[in-house]
Amino acid sequence: MSTGKFPTTISNNSPVTQPHQPFAAARSKIPTRQAIALISEHGDPAAEIGKDAAGGQNVYVRQVGEALAKLGWQVDMFTRKSSPYDATIVQHAPHCRTIRLTAGPEAYIPRDELFQYMPAFVDALQKFQQQEGTNYPLAHTNYWMSGWVGMELQRRQNIQLIHTYHSLGAVKYQSVSDIPAIAQTRLAVEKQILEQAHCVVATSPQELDDLETLVSRIGKIDVIPCGTDVSTFRPISKADARKQLGIGTKEKVVLYVGRFDKRKGIETLVRATGELRTQLTQGEEINPQNLKLLIVGGSDPQEADGAERRRIEEIVSELDLAANTDFVGMVGHDRLALYYTAADVCVIPSHYEPFGLVAIEAMACGTPVVASNVGGLKFTVISEETGLLVTPQDVSEFARAIGRILTDEVWARKIRRQASTRVQENFSWTGVAIQLSDLYRQLLAQSILGSSLPRTVSATSTLLPQQVIKAS
Ligand code: UDP
Repeated sequence: MSTGKFPTTISNNSPVTQPHQPFAAARSKIPTRQAIALISEHGDPAAEIGKDAAGGQNVYVRQVGEALAKLGWQVDMFTRKSSPYDATIVQHAPHCRTIRLTAGPEAYIPRDELFQYMPAFVDALQKFQQQEGTNYPLAHTNYWMSGWVGMELQRRQNIQLIHTYHSLGAVKYQSVSDIPAIAQTRLAVEKQILEQAHCVVATSPQELDDLETLVSRIGKIDVIPCGTDVSTFRPISKADARKQLGIGTKEKVVLYVGRFDKRKGIETLVRATGELRTQLTQGEEINPQNLKLLIVGGSDPQEADGAERRRIEEIVSELDLAANTDFVGMVGHDRLALYYTAADVCVIPSHYEPFGLVAIEAMACGTPVVASNVGGLKFTVISEETGLLVTPQDVSEFARAIGRILTDEVWARKIRRQASTRVQENFSWTGVAIQLSDLYRQLLAQSILGSSLPRTVSATSTLLPQQVIKAS
């Protein structure tokens, strides 16, 4: 079913030329745009970030999509429709849109129960292609279930498949106690993706290492990091930020930004704050009343992430930290830079973190980071230079590291400078999109020349949800 023909002229940093055919009338207007599909089955690029399951993957797909559109691609981002009230198509920019496909009930479904709806997702995507009269020659899939969708498309049509995991079962299941029933299926599909995709994009050298040692030695992997919007997240005046947020100059602000999820380790941070307050009572440097823990993110207590929020609130009151703690709720990127800037330190206490966008956002604003020494954080945070890396779940180590940054202002100022420089130089979305764009062009060119890596995709090679669920 593939269109199969691509012009061989490839211009620098702009997509291989091939007419996108969304609507017949539009054909003549955008003759040189190549349409590509970004697939993110649960991470809706048009969703409100910070709420329920909406986090880094949503941000990644949306930002990459918009940046790729600026580079000349027609970007269609596919996700599952999880509410009947959500628009089916959201146009973000002239050549970048989110398309919500109906696959299963139009309701929130926890990730671990979503795989059974993936065949319907593939059917809906193919139907969309038919309606639009287009065939995507390239799909960049995100998370293992979208990867499965990509492999199904690969089986049905000629498509270049690029995959980003965002989270790896093989690593995640080492750090959680409750292993879900879907685990075996996920591990099998993740291995199949690595061996079958034309390229896997690891977002850090640590992820590359995990893929090679824990998933499979077969497969092509490129390292292209996640990015951040360096025009939104940049150093601004701390005094102004505090004024706008009503935070006093004497307060020592410890910041958490992210979802309420057990693996995010918020409990470790709350307990570390309790320990730090006790230490401050014994010293004279900081008045313990001035210690403020701001927890940004999460939705209403009755929403899907409400149970973890309630658990954290209980720990806060058990430690008598209510006066020191503020549950800010969800904050949009337009105001988030104020929180990062106003903070003295941003803490990322995750048990496991594939990349951790919050780390680069905070550093971009010049805020020192104290983070768990895990996953992508080991790559983005340079200990002693842009913050401190500590042992995950070690409450005392977190308390000591946060205390060090709060009490050594000269050092903290140096970290601020180094942190923002590191992000500006290495992690802008534009830079990330240029690298992805180059990779796409390379793979499309290879597919035209027939020199793409041999992929043995047989009619029965993709595991079916029904099969793997029974097997697990
Ligand atoms: N975020 C946000 N508002 C909030 C909480 C979080 O915009 O109230 C964003 C945050 O800025 C970051 C993303 O959610 O861009 C979280 O990504 P990260 O990779 O740190 O964690 P994930 O959610 O993927 O586990």
